[in-house]
Amino acid sequence: MNATDSFSADYREARAKFRAAAARAGGVLDRANHPERGPDGGDLSTDVAWFGPRDAERVLVMIGATHGVEGFCGSGAQIDWLNRGEAARLPRGFGALLIHAINPYGFAWLRRVTHENVDLNRNWIDFSKPPPENADYEALRIALCPAEWTDTSLAASAAVLQAFAARAGKPALQRAISAGQYRDRDGIFYGGDAATWSRRTQTAIFETYLGRAAHVAILDFHTGLGPRGYGERIVTAMPGSDAYRRAADWYGAAITCPFDATSTSAPIVGDGLGAAAGVLPRAQVTGVALEFGTVPLEETLYAVRADAWLHARGDPASESGRALKARVRAAFYDDRDDWKGMVAGQSLLATREAIAGLSRA
Ligand SMILES: [Zn+2]
Repeated sequence: MNATDSFSADYREARAKFRAAAARAGGVLDRANHPERGPDGGDLSTDVAWFGPRDAERVLVMIGATHGVEGFCGSGAQIDWLNRGEAARLPRGFGALLIHAINPYGFAWLRRVTHENVDLNRNWIDFSKPPPENADYEALRIALCPAEWTDTSLAASAAVLQAFAARAGKPALQRAISAGQYRDRDGIFYGGDAATWSRRTQTAIFETYLGRAAHVAILDFHTGLGPRGYGERIVTAMPGSDAYRRAADWYGAAITCPFDATSTSAPIVGDGLGAAAGVLPRAQVTGVALEFGTVPLEETLYAVRADAWLHARGDPASESGRALKARVRAAFYDDRDDWKGMVAGQSLLATREAIAGLSRA
């Protein structure tokens, strides 16, 4: 078999491939139907495959499409894991939970965000309390999300953003943009004002399948940051915490962390890995985001901003809209075989390290 066969050209192909591969591998399939439709008019769902005894104490969890369009990567990694027969190699008593397209709307529509325009990885905050402030985003909001998407408006925006970077530094600019914000609902990296469909669905899946687990290893697949094809292992647990120490023990010296400036990711709030322990209070949760590089950061940010404009003010179905969509897809999915091979290989290694770690936990 060839790793490139595990990847798909769109959401619908990915879902069908996932279901078929999971069934072949002996998984028990489940699904949660999404309220919206895809651009082709078809239905959307988060699909789940379970392997091993239902009361497994040690469980490997793989999550794809937290950031919608990044789901090409996670889907490919999951299907490759299935096609390689890894489920049959699980140690006795272990479980594996594969969550395909936790944000199926974003995957199908080629968006990072959910249908609520929410960044799911900023949505896991406690909405009974005042949301975090992001004053720098507020100050840059009009430059980041201009009313018109023209050469003139983009040049004006670039001048504002460059001035900020010159004054505060590039990491501060990245942080202002991507840390998360809770005011600008048509904007970018918006964390929402309530739990999204995807958060509620992931919570329900966790409670259903992991409520009895004592040790849970989560691999959450992402793309768009870092060197092309390299799978950065990002730990969002605080350095010095038990969860961080376990991740360092399991995944080695290559782990990075947004909170000690070792990661290509800025410090963020409301991420799903950070919230998982709260959803599963009886389990010891060890989470890592696998972040595969695609294009330079400037291009990724351009794609995120263009997509927000397109859905808030433009027409995704127009000719220029489709051209922008192609650019968004290319920013988060490198459709070349060597990239797919790098994703599959590093993902397989990470799943085996997770299982070895679970065995020692
Ligand atoms: Zn991501």
